Amino acid sequence: MKVLVTGANRGLGLALVQQGLAQGHIMFAAVRSVAEQHIKELQQLKAIFEGQLRIIHMDVTNEKSVKQAADAVKWTDQYLDVVINNAAVLNERESTIEELDIHACSQAFDVNTLGPLRVVKHFFPLLKVGIEERVSDTQAILNISSEAGSITNTGPLDYPYGMSKAALNMLTVKLKRYLQQDDIAVISIHPGWMQTDMGGNQAPKDPNETAENLYTLLKKGKNNESFSFVDDTGKQMSL
Ligand code: NDP
Repeated sequence: MKVLVTGANRGLGLALVQQGLAQGHIMFAAVRSVAEQHIKELQQLKAIFEGQLRIIHMDVTNEKSVKQAADAVKWTDQYLDVVINNAAVLNERESTIEELDIHACSQAFDVNTLGPLRVVKHFFPLLKVGIEERVSDTQAILNISSEAGSITNTGPLDYPYGMSKAALNMLTVKLKRYLQQDDIAVISIHPGWMQTDMGGNQAPKDPNETAENLYTLLKKGKNNESFSFVDDTGKQMSL
């Protein structure tokens, strides 16, 4: 498969790239910064998995940057099978409504909701070519969401993050209906509480475990209503 992962330089994104390479996929690791210190691990992987890894610059908040990344992939590789919208920010986590910084809320929406929207807008043509080529029998868009985006399961705080992920889930449902005929699975995933910069070191889960589960899930890639929002093991989550 040819797989794009956003936010690929650390955390779950990096684990998805690593796991995908180990499984023999062609990986497109999209990163906000290509500065040496940002992509050290990716460069090491590139040296090991020669020819299997492309590192591309993409700031998901910048439509021009997303379009340029899509053009670059089209130029070198013509099509994609899977897009994984993973990049996100978690900010203003503990702020009450009185303290809330609205600018930070806009930033959360810009990265967590509009980011995946920009990516799907510009990479969709490559997915369509992927369907026509039918080299792989898996075509999918995975939106890495969170249980914080479940309307029935929100704590009192987390305004920007929870709202932006709920809106991401809405994007998933809309795309799923739109793409039904095209046979592209569209799924929102709660990846679990993971040991990453975002999840912190108290988290119970290794992101590599989540990454492995997500590739298993991709093989099952279903495009039905009950598979709109699931955890990394495929268990249904409440929108
Ligand atoms: P991290 O904070 O560890 O990594 C976030 C990634 O997103 C980084 O690669 C970061 O790049 C990238 N990113 C942020 N802003 C942008 C941008 N504007 N353009 C491109 N990339 C950007 O997060 P995790 O790995 O923990 O999280 C991965 C996904 O899982 C996220 O969608 C998150 O919401 C979700 N999730 C995580 C949980 C957890 O416990 N960790 C729990 C539930 C959901 P840079 O290094 O340049 O900042």
